[in-house]
Amino acid sequence: MPDDAVFVGVGAGLPSFLGVPGENLGGVYSANEYLTRANLMRAFDFPNYDTPIVHGRNVCVIGGGNVAMDAARTAVRLGSERVTIVYRRSRTELPARLEEIHHAEEEGIVFSMLTNPVRFEGDGQGRVSRIVCQRMELGEPDASGRRRPVPVPDSEFVIESDLVIVAIGGGANPLLTRTLPGLALNKWGNIVADANGRTSVPGVWAGGDIVTGSATVIEAMGAGKKAARDIHRWLEEEQAASRPAWVAAS
Ligand SMILES: Cc1cc2nc3c(=O)[nH]c(=O)nc-3n(C[C@H](O)[C@H](O)[C@H](O)COP(=O)(O)OP(=O)(O)OC[C@H]3O[C@@H](n4cnc5c(N)ncnc54)[C@H](O)[C@@H]3O)c2cc1C
Repeated sequence: MPDDAVFVGVGAGLPSFLGVPGENLGGVYSANEYLTRANLMRAFDFPNYDTPIVHGRNVCVIGGGNVAMDAARTAVRLGSERVTIVYRRSRTELPARLEEIHHAEEEGIVFSMLTNPVRFEGDGQGRVSRIVCQRMELGEPDASGRRRPVPVPDSEFVIESDLVIVAIGGGANPLLTRTLPGLALNKWGNIVADANGRTSVPGVWAGGDIVTGSATVIEAMGAGKKAARDIHRWLEEEQAASRPAWVAAS
């Protein structure tokens, strides 16, 4: 009779990339890496901490969510002269919270809307120096209900940029989920779990971003609490079922 339980809460920290040419040039970071270096590894306090980070003069942050705003505002604090948010839809569709957008604007961050990177170009020494972008216009709504961005023909233009931060979301790291036989995943690679966090594998619970996709701290904490209660219940039931009849009766 199994009497061990495992809770999987590994988050959804695998960054997505655009998949355009030049994305592997030096000076192109995922928001995860940039923010981890700047904050967690304390690059902001260099040289007291020895974490290197690129200090760009002209910074572009690709994406329009809260993480993009965090990255852009961090670049301002690290001394960048010009920080531009590059977003492929219009202001109406910006997924970041209004307060975040407002604070970013207050700090002088520029918004380049209806703009999509086509490729990154280097300075000849392996470092990014500019982004070739394309103007977009909004077409019919897509599956998310938001109007789909459609490229405007012959509309390429250049943004000079010596630091690019890609903040277009992330997904589940497949290392753990794919190596646990029988674990049901949805089409995005997130673990399928019920309201109490039970997965398709008996004795394995999951919660937080690895189940919901990128969400919020409060939701992850709630999922953890629900799963803890359910695990407690399950362990008690398992133990009760495995007790000899004379112990259960006494
Ligand atoms: C830049 C940024 C800003 C955010 N701002 C906000 C905000 O303002 N408010 C808000 O509510 N939410 C915010 N979020 C979202 C929030 O951080 C997440 O929704 C929340 O942290 C999810 O919690 P979690 O426990 O599921 O995963 P995480 O907090 O990601 O924790 C997962 C942990 O598991 C560890 N791990 C991964 N794989 C393994 C493994 N194989 N073995 C052992 N350990 C492993 C990771 O190192 C990590 O410590 C933000 C997210 C980002 C990226």
